Amino acid sequence: MKLVFLGPPGAGKGTQASKIADRFAVTHASTGDIFRQAVAGGSELGKTVKSYLDEGKLVSDELTAQVVDSMVIDREDSFILDGFPRTIVQAELLDEMLDKRQMSLDGVVFFQLSDQEAVERLTGRLVCQGCGQNYHVKFMPPPEEGVCGKCGGDLIVRSDSSMEIVEKRLNEYKEKTEPLVDYYRKQNGLLKIVDAALSPDQVTRDTVKVIEEIMG
Ligand SMILES: [Zn+2]
Repeated sequence: MKLVFLGPPGAGKGTQASKIADRFAVTHASTGDIFRQAVAGGSELGKTVKSYLDEGKLVSDELTAQVVDSMVIDREDSFILDGFPRTIVQAELLDEMLDKRQMSLDGVVFFQLSDQEAVERLTGRLVCQGCGQNYHVKFMPPPEEGVCGKCGGDLIVRSDSSMEIVEKRLNEYKEKTEPLVDYYRKQNGLLKIVDAALSPDQVTRDTVKVIEEIMG
């Protein structure tokens, strides 16, 4: 089973990937984790990645693809890619990696969420200054406004939850990643759409259903 999970920030695709990977006993290959593992492993590739990260440079599509190739495609028969591909160039590189091994994707699950919903989810995030507990003004409100239900500490808006940062992330997604939806739609039957605006449990049930269809 070889799947790609796609979706805008806030759609909960990472959480779903983790649950689905457990359920079907496949590898959840999140790009962030893969990079950390590559760096920790200390291979030549890992050292190259580390030098980019240390210098705060953006890791190129080609280098990202190489890391996914050696850490996932080369090692695993079954996986869910989460966070890769992120651009059309990366998607083309993924196709090449699979082609040269006579393999192909079984499906691409797109977690669909409106802009408005994404903004609402991403901007309302709070964190406790005392214990680090996360809240959300709408989806997971604290029992008392501004006060942590666990330790009584003060709640502040999470630093990655400002409108400015959220808009930047969404714009980047739209510009670079959203074109992948059409890229995969054009490949016969590959793209499956799940409504990510529903409750997380419902989204999991719908995703399971879609994957069972894919795997026949
Ligand atoms: Zn707290």
